[in-house]
Amino acid sequence: SEIATTPHVAVVSSPGMGHIIPLFEFARCLVTLHGLHVSFLNITTEASTAQMQLLHSPNLPSGLDVVDLPLVDLSTLVSKDALVLTRLSINVEQSFGCLKSVLLNLGKLNALVIDLFCTQAFDVCKELSIPVYSFCTTSAAFLAFSLYIPTMDREIEGEYVDLPEPVRLPGCSRVRIEDLLDQVRDRKNDEYKWYKYHVSRLPKAAGILVNTWEDLEPIALGAIRENPVYTEIPTPQIYPVGPLIKDIEPLTASDVDCLAWLDKQPTDSVIFIALGSGGTLSTQQLTEFAWGLELSGQRFIWVVRLPSDIACDMASFFCAGDGEAINDGREMEYLPEGFLERTKEVGLVVSSWAPQVAVLSHPSTGAFVSHCGWNSSLESVRCGVPMIGWPLYAEQRMNATMLMEDVGVLTKPVVEPGQKTIGRLEIERLMRTAIEGEEGKACRRKAKELKESAGKTLSIGGASYESLSHLAKQWKAY
Ligand code: UDP
Repeated sequence: SEIATTPHVAVVSSPGMGHIIPLFEFARCLVTLHGLHVSFLNITTEASTAQMQLLHSPNLPSGLDVVDLPLVDLSTLVSKDALVLTRLSINVEQSFGCLKSVLLNLGKLNALVIDLFCTQAFDVCKELSIPVYSFCTTSAAFLAFSLYIPTMDREIEGEYVDLPEPVRLPGCSRVRIEDLLDQVRDRKNDEYKWYKYHVSRLPKAAGILVNTWEDLEPIALGAIRENPVYTEIPTPQIYPVGPLIKDIEPLTASDVDCLAWLDKQPTDSVIFIALGSGGTLSTQQLTEFAWGLELSGQRFIWVVRLPSDIACDMASFFCAGDGEAINDGREMEYLPEGFLERTKEVGLVVSSWAPQVAVLSHPSTGAFVSHCGWNSSLESVRCGVPMIGWPLYAEQRMNATMLMEDVGVLTKPVVEPGQKTIGRLEIERLMRTAIEGEEGKACRRKAKELKESAGKTLSIGGASYESLSHLAKQWKAY
């Protein structure tokens, strides 16, 4: 059959929608734009309806197969207080118990593409002589930081968070100590051990794809390619192939309502508030946020979730993307008394989950309050929407600073050192500025420029398109 002779590539993502979404989109592009046969290996977890809907959607292109790896029982292997990367890494390790037989079953494979936290695959693939490519689902700046970690680990004693000055990455912007990602803030924690384990193995990759593009991150991409420190590591060839964002999904009834409401609002007027697949606010922050939003008088769509001190914290990342199960309507009880009634003319409150890409693509959407997860960040600039940074965990503080200082598409609340809750007046100011202020307008202009640039880089002849096309040709020839 035709499919038997089509070059075949496998893709595997570690659990969590933040990884699955871009890798699945990547798999889809390989099939629809570059004529490859792709098997997407799904590391099954107890979770997420959103994940099942995406991977088992009825309208996948032919040539894209999803292979579910058997669910593994982690109950005895992962301690209750283990954090996100530790859980995820042990999950991947256990699920890869069957990787060799799954890969052998797929027949001749031209390559395997993995994300940053699936590096156990290198060993199996070496045995099977399958070239492995790494796919970085976050920024090139984060990749630069990750590649440099083994060097920092050798050269720096003590905790990174105690360093007197920002971290100087060779050829890149500095990383502020307060922006350091969670996984490197305590070198004795297993989180650091796993992070270092995965990033030390990056040089084993035959190439590294990054979900970014030249115009968005010229500094970090240039440094990784040209700075002698990176050449020496050694750093594999880098392929920026982004911004790959998820397709607009089939809409639910509440999604349709949400878009119909947007249709009635003026251009660039609505603030969209959504903190990724699992982000939440504390009870106190939720209250302040609601008051600030109301005081600002701006139009909004707000995806509200149970406050974090009530629901699970991010350590239980398996909840991610499964908002409904955790929230079941109770989240509205945490809004200030009468909030829904008083704001009903200007705002729409949505429970747990909104069709984010469809909302960001809508002309009425004028700003995006985001936790600055990399997918959300790319979706925002791809749609030309300026951002308000509300970083929560992982590498989001780094992303927010980069998007503000190097790119110029983001405004952030002013936070005093040690301040835990951002007050309503600061939130009011921020919301107004984003829609009406000069700073907000400058960010909007920049976001619209990047939207153009993203469209170009993804079209035939554009840098990201051609870099993927080059890889696809290489894989076909292998
Ligand atoms: N998302 C969505 N609706 C929501 C919240 C999130 O569709 O209400 C999607 C969003 O479009 C993005 C993903 O979930 O594709 C979140 O990924 P990101 O990397 O931004 O953050 P993470 O969830 O990994 O923290």
